[in-house]
Amino acid sequence: MHELSIVQHFVGTTDQAAAQRGIKQVKRVTLTVGALTGVIPKYVRMYYDEVCEGTRLEGSELEINYLEAEAFCRGCGNMYDPTQTDDKCPACGDTDKEIIQGKELTVRDIAYEE
Ligand SMILES: [Zn+2]
Repeated sequence: MHELSIVQHFVGTTDQAAAQRGIKQVKRVTLTVGALTGVIPKYVRMYYDEVCEGTRLEGSELEINYLEAEAFCRGCGNMYDPTQTDDKCPACGDTDKEIIQGKELTVRDIAYEE
């Protein structure tokens, strides 16, 4: 359910952006999905074709660029994947961290015909 509304949202905004740029047919969309968004690429793919029907994205290809989570430990400066360590730094056990990567959910690129 979560993924359906996300797909509707990014297909809608991409369709609008295409209209503004005078693009008639989008051929391929590259979507960046971070691991911390909770978005499952397989569900995004499942809804994609259906949501694209009747838009400038109809029949286009979807490419998903999945980014693993990455955190920077403020305690010791270690870089680690917080989804693998229960949110704790594996080196020092500190939970004070900065998320460097993993919250992305953006259309990175579109390929199209004028
Ligand atoms: Zn640490």
